[in-house]
Amino acid sequence: MSDCIFCKIIRGDIPSKKIYEDDEIFAFHDIHPAAPVHFMIVPKQHIASLAEADMSHQKILGRLLAKAGELAKGQGLNDGFRTIINTGYVGQQEVYHLHAHILGGPEPLGPML
Ligand code: ADP
Repeated sequence: MSDCIFCKIIRGDIPSKKIYEDDEIFAFHDIHPAAPVHFMIVPKQHIASLAEADMSHQKILGRLLAKAGELAKGQGLNDGFRTIINTGYVGQQEVYHLHAHILGGPEPLGPML
């Protein structure tokens, strides 16, 4: 989608601190980190949220989650991390391009739920 901020980041129209990209997914640091390490993994395909995802997205969403551990370890998160996917109005989603937040640091995170 041309006016989606994460699509613009994926295209390079808006700068980001990129961690990783392949032909299906893109990972970059959150501009307002909520933990010592906070990045997001997004599908390159514009999927608005988990509420819009279906079985046609099985492969790309599997890839997104399957890469999380490797990318987190690459950011020094060797003792675990939190994964959050906000969905829709009730889930307090702000950016309507599906994204998994990955959060962590040297110490256990406080409660977020
Ligand atoms: P919430 O703000 O409630 O976490 P989302 O789950 O939709 O809502 O998360 C959107 C995230 O995108 C926020 O953490 C925000 O800081 C981040 N963000 C917004 N614009 C940018 C940007 N240009 N670069 C990196 N991260 C961004």
